[in-house]
Amino acid sequence: MGEVRIGYHTSISGNLDLAFDRAREIGCTSMQIFSSNPRGWAVKQLGKDEVERFRAKKKAYNISPVFVHMPYLPNLASPKDDVYSKSKESMIETLTRCNAIGADYLVVHLGSHLGTGADAGRERVAAAVNEMERHAGNVTILLENEAGQRNSVGSRLDELVEIFNSIEHDRVGFCLDTCHVFAAGYDIRKKEVAREVIDTLGLERIRCIHLNDAKQPCGSGLDRHADIGFGHIGRKGFETLFSLPGLRDKPMILETPLVETPRDAKNELELVMKLLEI
Ligand SMILES: [Zn+2]
Ligand SMILES: [Zn+2]
Repeated sequence: MGEVRIGYHTSISGNLDLAFDRAREIGCTSMQIFSSNPRGWAVKQLGKDEVERFRAKKKAYNISPVFVHMPYLPNLASPKDDVYSKSKESMIETLTRCNAIGADYLVVHLGSHLGTGADAGRERVAAAVNEMERHAGNVTILLENEAGQRNSVGSRLDELVEIFNSIEHDRVGFCLDTCHVFAAGYDIRKKEVAREVIDTLGLERIRCIHLNDAKQPCGSGLDRHADIGFGHIGRKGFETLFSLPGLRDKPMILETPLVETPRDAKNELELVMKLLEI
């Protein structure tokens, strides 16, 4: 077993590089950030100093890999041409930022087809990701599975694989979110289901695990994260998951709300580390 790489989605408030200080303080060995305000289209240009500090801290603190999560507004499955091209521009912009700061991966939600159907949605997403080849640079794009909200693309794993297969470049992989897959109806508390999930996506192609418990029952279709052990997946569910070969070697990012647990982020990471020592 390799070295465990684990961290939190961390705030960039103030300056991008301050995320590293926050991550180090709670004991992260990997982290995820937004590279700009996740709720807006407008992007503030990065300063040269900020970029240099970011790169220096990544090395000095040994926090790696670094994942950047796409902002919320872009919709790569949108049937509306203006939204679609704006979304692609936003992705290009984010990829450029990722390359500037030396981030390793860009995590992407596949969006909503707004009622035009799964086929149309899949085609839009695949075409957009195909176009990103020229902009990806050293960054690998990770398609994240969705929880199954109405009209969302990529909550069914075969659908994700189909999109993956129609992408013609190799700067692409998967990010598996445990809460989303459970909400989408895959009961990963059962070992055979968990194994099927891994086999469907392909262990090698899973480059990140979003480690979140689920506030709602299996198949709810709702994207509601819970603290580890306080949701329907539960500690036992995660133990089952980690008992599958190869999974513990994947970088893991927590996006838990830290509201039900009495633990803080540091203790939460320690708990997960303990669960990993099976
Ligand atoms: Zn996630
Ligand atoms: Zn989520």
